[in-house]
Amino acid sequence: MPDLAFIDHVIRGRASMTPETQSAVFNPATGEVSAQLALGGATEVNAAVKAALDAFPAWAATPPHVRARVLFRFRDLIERDLDRLAAMITAEHGKVHSDAKGELIRGLEVVEFACGIPQVLKGEFSEQVGNSIDAVSFRQPLGVVAGITPFNFPAMVPMWMFPVALACGNAFILKPSERDPSLANEMAALLARAGLPDGLFQVVHGGKPVVDALLDHPGVEAVSFVGSTPIAEYVHRRGTAAGKRVQALGGAKNHMIVMPDADLDKAVDALMGAAYGSAGERCMAISVAVPVGQATADALIEKLAPRVRQLKVGPGTDPEAEMGPLVTREHADKVLGYIDTGLAEGAQLVVDGRDLRIQGYEQGFFVGGTLFDRVTPEMRIYREEIFGPVLSVVRTESFDEALDLINTHEFGNGTALFTRDGDTAQAFLSQVRAGMVGVNVPIPVPMAFHSFGGWKRSLFGDHHMHGPEGVRFYTRLKTATLRWPKGIRSGAEFVMPTLK
Ligand code: NAD
Repeated sequence: MPDLAFIDHVIRGRASMTPETQSAVFNPATGEVSAQLALGGATEVNAAVKAALDAFPAWAATPPHVRARVLFRFRDLIERDLDRLAAMITAEHGKVHSDAKGELIRGLEVVEFACGIPQVLKGEFSEQVGNSIDAVSFRQPLGVVAGITPFNFPAMVPMWMFPVALACGNAFILKPSERDPSLANEMAALLARAGLPDGLFQVVHGGKPVVDALLDHPGVEAVSFVGSTPIAEYVHRRGTAAGKRVQALGGAKNHMIVMPDADLDKAVDALMGAAYGSAGERCMAISVAVPVGQATADALIEKLAPRVRQLKVGPGTDPEAEMGPLVTREHADKVLGYIDTGLAEGAQLVVDGRDLRIQGYEQGFFVGGTLFDRVTPEMRIYREEIFGPVLSVVRTESFDEALDLINTHEFGNGTALFTRDGDTAQAFLSQVRAGMVGVNVPIPVPMAFHSFGGWKRSLFGDHHMHGPEGVRFYTRLKTATLRWPKGIRSGAEFVMPTLK
């Protein structure tokens, strides 16, 4: 395939060695192979960690406001190239162009948060904790840190991590998804153009061998992971066993309760975007609607079904399309398999997305919007993450029953409630067991200056990402006690120093 692009690792700011293995990257709208990706292993990881260790001390010693200047320039470069970068995302992921731009802008907001790092890293100071003694606490970078990211946000999820890690003074190694790897290399190029010194942001492509090499390497201090729950759990176990700090964000099954008093038209609008946007390939997608009361459920289905049938599905390059293809043929087949399973389990298939054909894109990985009613908690389509354009409706009789459904589910990433009643909203906020909660907001993704993360088996580790939690994750605390010369006393002291 002579015309095919070849995507190589970015180690120390340049393309590296010849890969032993390659994997195909697809255009999901056409089904064609668009590039071959170099898959790395321990050799590439070792080279990247060595370069990062070399670069780290000078960067850690660079004043925070000077580090922030690089991020200011990076921010401007991304904004300048927004359309070009969004087109790259669409070409490998499949999501529609406007949604790809949206992901870049949400990522940029983390860069903007990181530009304020001098303010965030100021630390704490206490004067006169003893005679001529002051105390100061401040946070220092960890060293070399790694990020392992999923296919569904090839720009935004890495941007949850590296702007904060770099601003705090660390060196960062990114292992992106093999399915849409180009954005990672592009970020490396833009960071270099923004003036980031060599070795501080490197990309090593690959699968499990690269992940394992990063988890085991003694030079890597911390690992941030986002992906499916089984791999998140594995990364957390192996990384912490190797003595590293690990934050590993996993899968989700996000519920949206619709109360009888909710504005049903607005709830339906919210469900359409939250369930079918990005073809359901979002960890914050709503995949379960939970109407309270049979009348609410009947009215919801009546309004929802025609909207799902009318969804405009097409290639991400079509400005009219509301939803693009799934990322790979394999993933589309998995989603189609779940629709078959739902039928076999006895759920009522209200809208069937299995036979969708898009003219001119017959080989694309498309699945149409799908709606199931009368789904029950024992069904696999309810318990498992499908990660496609499939919305399940689980009917309940009361708010308490709906809340219990969410609280007993294995996952606890995001959740939402649609109501006009303040007391119900307050009870939901205080009692629901999930990390990100929306009241009349279907996808409550926190802003960059707050932190992103789930509960239960949607997150392994202690820290959420970006915002204040991100800064804590990528730094460690040092506390110093400073005695000024005139307070120094003579003679040895053998008891704990105290003041009365
Ligand atoms: P994935 O778990 O298959 O892959 C994630 C990363 O792990 C990739 O870089 C991949 O190369 C690597 N990986 C895959 N198999 C591995 C293995 N056996 N050993 C070591 N590394 C391995 O996830 P995906 O399909 O790319 O992304 C979709 C998943 O990500 C969904 O489950 C979604 O919910 C989740 N996700 C979660 C969040 C969140 O914030 N909680 C955000 C985005 C995506």
